[in-house]
Amino acid sequence: MNVAEIARALHLRKVGTAWRGPCPICGGKTRFQIREGRNGPLIWCWGGCDRKDLLVELRRWGLLPQPERRELSPAERRAAAEQRRRDARDLEAARHFRAAADLLIDELLETLPVSDLSRGPLTAMKAAMRTDAGLVAEYRDWLEREPKLTAALVAAGRNRGARLEMMLRHYLLGGAKNAA
Ligand SMILES: [Zn+2]
Repeated sequence: MNVAEIARALHLRKVGTAWRGPCPICGGKTRFQIREGRNGPLIWCWGGCDRKDLLVELRRWGLLPQPERRELSPAERRAAAEQRRRDARDLEAARHFRAAADLLIDELLETLPVSDLSRGPLTAMKAAMRTDAGLVAEYRDWLEREPKLTAALVAAGRNRGARLEMMLRHYLLGGAKNAA
């Protein structure tokens, strides 16, 4: 079953590259999100439900295949270990990314008019980055779409402090002037 089929079964609505709707565990209207990832569906809940619980729930509904319970081959064990290393490395970078992105989003939310349409996605992105799974998914998505900007945010987050705040303020004021 692909992501679009899972989304249909859960009555989710397409929003950009993802599908959104009620969480199968905690409900809500738009808490649950699913998106096509390189290694299968990326799912998370902005209500804070654990990703593992969500996977169990989707398997219970027959929307995801049951995990195979056979022994892993040495090559598969190596691949799994490599995946865990990659996840740990990405999480570390993603935390720096979040430090800078959160600051940028807060600044934007303070300066954008209440009616501005980008406020919703900005607030949603901030919420999605609260859990490790959501954060890594968001970070990888940005890395794929905007590698340069993402690397700049990671670097900025790594060296965060007064200087970063000054740089971002400068960047935002400059952007606002150019747009005017
Ligand atoms: Zn939930």
